[in-house]
Amino acid sequence: MSSHLLSVDSLSRDYVEHLMQLAGRMEPFAQRRKVTRVLEGAVLGNLFFEASTRTRISFHAAFSRLGGSVCDTTGFTFSSMAKGESLYDTSRVMGGYVDAVVLRHPDQGAVAEFAEATRVPVINGGDGPGEHPSQALLDLYTIEKEFARLGKRLEGAHFLLTGDLKHGRTVHSLIKLLSLFGPLRITLVSPPGLEMPRHLIDLVTSRGHRVEQRESLANDFGDLDVIYTTRIQKERFTDEMSETFAGISQDFIVDRAFLDQRCSPTTIVMHPLPRDSRPGANDLNVDLNGDPRLAIFRQADNGIPMRMAIFANLLQVEEYIERDAQDVRWFVPPTFGVDDRTL
Ligand code: ASP
Repeated sequence: MSSHLLSVDSLSRDYVEHLMQLAGRMEPFAQRRKVTRVLEGAVLGNLFFEASTRTRISFHAAFSRLGGSVCDTTGFTFSSMAKGESLYDTSRVMGGYVDAVVLRHPDQGAVAEFAEATRVPVINGGDGPGEHPSQALLDLYTIEKEFARLGKRLEGAHFLLTGDLKHGRTVHSLIKLLSLFGPLRITLVSPPGLEMPRHLIDLVTSRGHRVEQRESLANDFGDLDVIYTTRIQKERFTDEMSETFAGISQDFIVDRAFLDQRCSPTTIVMHPLPRDSRPGANDLNVDLNGDPRLAIFRQADNGIPMRMAIFANLLQVEEYIERDAQDVRWFVPPTFGVDDRTL
């Protein structure tokens, strides 16, 4: 394991299981019952050159909840890259200022290129349509927690991945990560032209998993354990694609009717978010809000313990996490959302 987190390719099953356990140790801090200062004095550089709410804020919050502080920059406009500075120079300079970097960049491979110029740990916060490894780790952590609650096992589970599987970096990282476990059954449903890249299907199949591709949600999928929906990534479309996909059929929407007709009470619904909730959008329907099968907000919450675990591991402070932990003194509500179900 290098000191960077750039792609799921470099992760072994043992290492992933270790991170899952470490995330479990972070729960008292993530749920605001305890405070730890294990990264006191450390500084994170949070560099986001593409839109982000969850990834940027949750990395920031995770580092802060470990006692560290954060410097950040968003968009090219306010960074020296707008003046033509290279990734190499930016990286070397950042290495002199901070103890870890989270970078999101619109170009696939740019985060790996950035990481070549520094020895401080670099985390890929999303590189164009490439990968989003910390999202996949928190997704797996969510699946494990939800399955533990439902008395299910990962072995033999059936996953439906749907939406823009061509450009969705979260599903690229997730399918690779899932393929370390199992054997699993994975069904892929996407609008024609937005299918999962062939090399990823081949990789997963070569590891002994059963992968099927379908063209619409109007199918009998059998028992589904997890539905993982994704947003159509219009910002990655070429002009030609924008025309072709202007009227993507509404048949790709996961909603309450789909769940009630085709799934069981123990099927969970995930989405990396954001979901497009504008009228007419082709995304996970808001009519599922308040349904306990909708795990999307629990999934987003899990970004904090998993990202704390990633920092604690990369910065090598795991053994000190609980040392001198204190009780939280401020007001913490019983649930974070107004319609959260207590499970
Ligand atoms: N937030 C996720 C990402 O950055 C998913 C999305 O944008 O649709 O890849």
